[in-house]
Formats: sequence, C-alpha cells, structure tokens
Amino acid sequence: MDVQIYQYDAVIVGAGLAGLAAARELTAAGKKTAVITKLHPLRSHSGAAQGGINAALGEGDSVELHEFDTVKGSDYLADQDCVELLCGKAPETIRWAERMGAVFSRDEKGDIAIRPFGGQSKPRACYAKDRTGLTLLQTIYEQADRAGIEVFDEWYAGDILYKDGKVSGVAAFNIRDMQPAVFNAKAVMFATGGYGRAFKINSNAHANTGDALSIVARHGLPLEDMEFVQFHPSGLGGSGILISEAARGEGGRLFNSEGERFMEKYAPNAMELASRDVVARAITKEVLEGRGIGPEKDGVWIDLTHLDPEIILTKLPELRELAITFLGQDMLKEPIMIAATAHYSMGGIPVDINCHVKKSPDELVEGFYAAGECSCVSVHGANRLGANSVLEALLFGRHAGESILRDIDNIKLREATTEDAQAMLDEVNWVLTNNGTERVHALREELQQSMTDNAGVFRTAKSLNKQTAIIKKLIKRYENIRIDDKSKTYNTELQEAIELKHMLEFSLFIVEGGLAREESRGAHFREDFPTRDDEKFMKHTYAYMDKEYNITQEYADVVQGKFEPQERTY
Ligand SMILES: Cc1cc2nc3c(=O)[nH]c(=O)nc-3n(C[C@H](O)[C@H](O)[C@H](O)COP(=O)(O)OP(=O)(O)OC[C@H]3O[C@@H](n4cnc5c(N)ncnc54)[C@H](O)[C@@H]3O)c2cc1C
Repeated sequence: MDVQIYQYDAVIVGAGLAGLAAARELTAAGKKTAVITKLHPLRSHSGAAQGGINAALGEGDSVELHEFDTVKGSDYLADQDCVELLCGKAPETIRWAERMGAVFSRDEKGDIAIRPFGGQSKPRACYAKDRTGLTLLQTIYEQADRAGIEVFDEWYAGDILYKDGKVSGVAAFNIRDMQPAVFNAKAVMFATGGYGRAFKINSNAHANTGDALSIVARHGLPLEDMEFVQFHPSGLGGSGILISEAARGEGGRLFNSEGERFMEKYAPNAMELASRDVVARAITKEVLEGRGIGPEKDGVWIDLTHLDPEIILTKLPELRELAITFLGQDMLKEPIMIAATAHYSMGGIPVDINCHVKKSPDELVEGFYAAGECSCVSVHGANRLGANSVLEALLFGRHAGESILRDIDNIKLREATTEDAQAMLDEVNWVLTNNGTERVHALREELQQSMTDNAGVFRTAKSLNKQTAIIKKLIKRYENIRIDDKSKTYNTELQEAIELKHMLEFSLFIVEGGLAREESRGAHFREDFPTRDDEKFMKHTYAYMDKEYNITQEYADVVQGKFEPQERTY
C-alpha cells in the first residue's frame, strides 16, 4: 500500500485525558488537529481511574499545603516550580471540568465531595463515586468531539519524524488494514500514558506498553527518572487489578496472617494512609517475612467490614464488584486479599514546565511536546501521591495545548515525504517476515516475571545486574521471533511484537537507572542503600540508549523552592 501523507497544524498521539484536553484547546482555537490513538479514546487507561482528582477545596486546606504534601510525597525530587503550577491551578481545573459537564459526587451541603487519600494532610480528592476517570474522560471526549477534533482511532504510531533537533510529524499505520501514513505537522505531542505492563503484577491496561518512550529513545533522545516506578499497595491478589486507594481513604484496614494491623509498625501516625511507597513496602515486607495470606501466602487482607455498608455501596461499588468477580470475595461481608502492584510511572519523556520535550537537561526539541503519564515534568519526583495524576494529565494536557498555540505560528512546517515512514515500515516488514523460533508471548512473560522479581518493590545491585543481563538476552532472542499471523487485517500479533520490543527497551532504562541510583528515595528502594542520599542523588536522571542498547546516564539539578528537604515520616 502506498504511504498516505496528511498535513495538520498539530498531531497528538494518545486520546486519554492529556491528549484530548490538548486537542480540545487546539481545535477550539481553530488549529487543524489530528489525534492518533491505538484504542478508541474512551478505552484509554484514564477511564480506569477510580479514586479521585486532587484540589485544595476543603475547609482548612490550601494550595500551599497541597504543594507541601506533593513535594514531601515526591521525596523532594519533584521540581517545585511545576508543583506550584499543578497545585495552584488544581481548583480552577476542577471548576473547568465541571463547566465542561463532569458530574462530581456531592457532600450534604451540595458542595463537591472530597475524600482523604494517602500522604495528604487534608481530604482533597474530588471524585465521581469510584468512576472518576471515566466521568472525566467521557466529558472531555464529548467536548473535544464537539469542538471538531479529528480522531484516527485504531491507528498505531510507530515513529517520529525527527531531524536536526526538530520533530515534524509521526509515522503510523491503521491497525484495521495496515495502511501506512505520515502525519506531517508543525507541532507533535505525545500523550501515550504509562508503562506498567513491563511488570507481571500490575494494575495497568494491556495497552500501557510505553511505546512512545522507546520511539523517542531510539532517536538518541533522553528519558528521565525511569527508575521510579510506583507500586500501589492494593492490587487484587493474584492479578494486581487495582483496588483504589479510596478503599483505604474510606477507612480500610490492613491485616497480616497473624491478625496484626501491621501498619502500626511502619507508619504509626498515618497508618494505612501513609504514602503509597511506604504502604507497598510494608505489605511486601510482611509477605517476605512469612506473614502473608492466601494459597501462596503472597498477599495481606484489607478489611472494610467495620464500615457502614452504605459507604461501600454508594462510594465504592466498582471496587466491590471487582473483588467479587475476580476473587469471589465480598467486601461487605469479609476482608479481601491484596498485594502490591506496579501502577504508575513517575519517569518518562523529559519536558520543561511548558511541556516542550527536552533533548538534554538544557536543550529543547523544536515542535515536540508531551504531557500526562508518558512525560516527566516532574511533579511527582520519586513518588506520586494518589489523585495527583488525573490532575496532572488534565491540567498539563490543557497547558500543552496552550503552549503549542503560543509557539505554532513561529514554527515552520518541514514538508514530509513518504520516505519518512520507511523506518516504521522496515520494522513492520521485519516482524512479518522474520522466520525464527521464539514466541512473543513467551518472551513477554519472561520479561514481566523477571521485572517483578528483580526490579520490583525491593532492589539490590545483584538483582538489578541480573535483570540487565536477562533483558539483554531477551533482546537477542527477540531477533529470532516468528509470528503466525501474516495478514494485514487487525494483526494484533504483529502489534504485540512491536510493543514487546518497546517494553524490552524502556525496561533497560528502569533497571540501569535503578542500578546507578545508589540510594533509596520514594518508590525506588535499594536494600543495599536503604537511605536517601541528598548529597549525591538529589538529581534527576537523564538516560540515553545507543544502537547496541547501551545506556549512558547523566544527572540534572532538581528545581528547588520554598520546601527544604526533610526526613520523610508518616
Ligand atoms: C487502574 C488505575 C486507576 C487509577 N486511578 C487514579 C486515580 O484515582 N487518580 C489519579 O490521579 N490517577 C489514577 N491513575 C493514574 C491515571 O489514571 C493516569 O496516570 C492518567 O489517566 C494517564 O492519562 P494519559 O492521558 O497520560 O494516558 P492514558 O489515559 O493512558 O492514554 C494513553 C493514550 O495513548 C494511546 N497510545 C499509546 N501508545 C500509542 C501508540 N503507539 N499509537 C497510538 N496511540 C497510542 C492510547 O490509545 C491512549 O489513548 C490510575 C491508573 C490506573 C491504571
């Protein structure tokens, strides 16, 4: 099939909250905007967000307190100028979403209801029952559609058009019939979400394979802070499907096999509502020390039976359904089994405060933007607080749209040719015709299991070195893959092969970043370096990959502000 060439003012890859919010801004301002997404927009992972979206709206709360909690939660690795923007604009973002049509849950007075979340001094998570993300995604999609965005759904973006420090488009193919195309534009934005699928036990959608990270890294561009992967304390036992923090926010209590409410040992003040990294480590420690529950003794209980059943039925209906469906356990009547699950990616494509992608700590790429979970701006530093991420996606998505609007008239379009799709087509053809013996799903399972084992909640130099060797070997074995489906219609086997290569590549960044960072900070915990080392590592990691999959790293300063680093206790 001939390569099609499309021309737009702006092209956005990703139709979750970040991508749609930007697309709406641009289209409403009259810019011809295409959104490329491998899923239907409403199937984006943003729709799975259950618990809430933060804004300092409650009594006694303030933007400054929200900032403090976020910086403390980040273990002082967040850039404080970006945190100020996030927290300062949060109340306005909620009101904007409401004006767009999002229906939030209400309290008795009729105000937007807020609930407590981990690591926060005040209740500040606004919510729509336990379907917050879905409500917001539907609303923003409707409004973006109304503004006239053009969506290319079930299109897979495989490459960027990158030359001389400038991005001028995206190469993609239609998943339905493999039609290839070049989307030529003055501005390109990535909003491709997270990459939790690199781990076996994870809470992420199957689509969260971090494609954009490897696409960017293959061009020699850096990835930032990839070692920081958040493990959420409450994944359903066995699968890792998320039981939102709302379960602890509403009063859920954690118990081990000895009936001990073990958080008393780890966070005597905040207890179950300590920051996520603290609770996830506590749970994993209980399991490792033999006090786990379940057939494999690899989980703990969360108990909500002391709560008024009305709370569960009205505020956590989806969570109850999930536990009944996947575990046969009804939280109204009995405790349910949970364990830590890979959940959120703090690291990603480095961007400045206005969402411009960076070529190095102090150089920008022209015409290239990123926002949402695939980016690292960095508002979450080493550990993200619950309900700050939907906020980030929505707020920085809009912000990226505004930033593109400011820049776009000064960007000159570099005309694309069909040649610009060649690297992507070569990859596709290689996967279709390679006639080896290795199977994609087997390699993927080995990657996921080994990442959970060696680069999970607890890490050591030994486990990380072992993992680098495993990934390098898997990359070698990937050269010998074979897929059975050679067709051009909905070839998901082909897509999964391409996604696996992406996962192998960015996993190297996670592992090598963790190996070089000889300290424990936020979600990154080194058993051989159990304390934070501000002297050496109060720094962002910038990592680059060469053609032989060698990773080199440099460090960049953290933007400091009004909050001085302190020891982090809860
Ligand atoms: C189960 C769960 C619950 C959560 N709950 C909360 C919560 O309560 N509060 C909170 O603040 N955060 C929560 N989070 C995190 C939060 O939902 C996400 O970080 C956020 O929604 C990410 O939005 P996004 O727009 O960046 O990406 P996403 O919504 O993940 O969208 C990514 C988009 O990129 C597209 N895409 C990706 N790769 C390609 C490609 N190669 N080609 C074309 N398209 C591509 C996809 O099709 C999709 O449209 C939760 C996360 C999970 C997994």
